[in-house]
Amino acid sequence: MKVYLIKTPEVELETLEAVSDFLASFDGPMEFSFSDKEFNKEQFPFLIYDETNWPTFEEPELDVDNLDFTLHKMKADRKNSHFYHTVYFEDLFSICEFYREKFCEPDSFVVLLTKYQNEYSYLSSFSSKNIFVNVDHWNKFTQDTDAKYPIAYEVAQNIMSSLMNIDYDQDKFMKFYQKQEKKLWHKKEDLDKVLTNYNPYIHFVPRGCMNDFCGHKKDVILKLQTGNICSTCLAKTFEENIDSRLLKQVISIFNAIRSEFMFQTEEQIRDSLRTGDTAQPFPLIIERTNKIYIKTKTQMLEVRLNPLCKMFYLFLLKKEDGVRVKELIDYKDELTKLYLKIRPGRELEKATKSIDDLVSQKEDTSFNSLRSIINKTIDELLRKTGLANHYTINGERGEAYGVKIPRNLIEYRF
Ligand SMILES: [Zn+2]
Repeated sequence: MKVYLIKTPEVELETLEAVSDFLASFDGPMEFSFSDKEFNKEQFPFLIYDETNWPTFEEPELDVDNLDFTLHKMKADRKNSHFYHTVYFEDLFSICEFYREKFCEPDSFVVLLTKYQNEYSYLSSFSSKNIFVNVDHWNKFTQDTDAKYPIAYEVAQNIMSSLMNIDYDQDKFMKFYQKQEKKLWHKKEDLDKVLTNYNPYIHFVPRGCMNDFCGHKKDVILKLQTGNICSTCLAKTFEENIDSRLLKQVISIFNAIRSEFMFQTEEQIRDSLRTGDTAQPFPLIIERTNKIYIKTKTQMLEVRLNPLCKMFYLFLLKKEDGVRVKELIDYKDELTKLYLKIRPGRELEKATKSIDDLVSQKEDTSFNSLRSIINKTIDELLRKTGLANHYTINGERGEAYGVKIPRNLIEYRF
């Protein structure tokens, strides 16, 4: 199943690439890729390049335990949205639909990343297999963590909600709520019960499940930290016959994001990476599943790479003396075989195209972009330990490029 990530023009290409690369590093039936296709305001008139359309986000400090208050705030958000040039859900989904018709297989998901504020101030939403995720303001809720993680979470969560056939219409819900509102709710639990009866798969009181509604946006941190799917929602995934491999893939994504949100101080990270006086690099472990880990004293740090990057990195680990870019063409068969091993479902034709781009001698761009993604991932993983250099791809232009790590430190667990 293909998932295409696209963006409105104001979103930085790096954001799109980073989210797509992160999601593509997990094995499973969902195949993530991105396109930097530009959509213009002639086609989509709401794309007026003006920051009034993604206003500075200010969420007042609320009593988060007061559900009634949160629901009132949602109503106010809806009214306030009319002060701006409102961008409707339909506007955003129309871009997804346009892209889908031109470029996608019918059952693909199309995910639009955008900074445009929408009519309900939602962080994300879906309609059938079209999804949008707002990529702005994440630093307000998830300080110190790279925004690509919560954005990737929203992508995976919306795919699940869509596959679970969760039917939710904000306007209908608001009407329902306004009727209930006249009754006086003394206890949050009572109101929660009524709302849960209305739709058991939307949790207005956050419980650390992917389907927490997060009317109060800061609540999103809870589900990012738990990475959980509650028993009610899990039962629904079985009821809807969601492919168990897909569920497993989503859970791996949630777990990886969760670990980014567990509070590790910079000091703890450095401690776990400390090698003692010798400053020797740590072993590099390659699992049978082609997962790559750096084994520190206290933890296994996974080097998460998209399949093409992973293939290239594993290839370079086999080449102790490195390889010149212009010699890559000689290894075409070896590279193709390795790629198909990592991505067994991939059609030969498509695999060959990716490899062709890499080994083509016309330009180094494909090589340089793989190298830069791989090196950035490793640099981030090892932070400022001074050890990254042992694992990154280094070399001089025109000379051989390679990975320095001593080969006796590479352990293949096949
Ligand atoms: Zn749930």
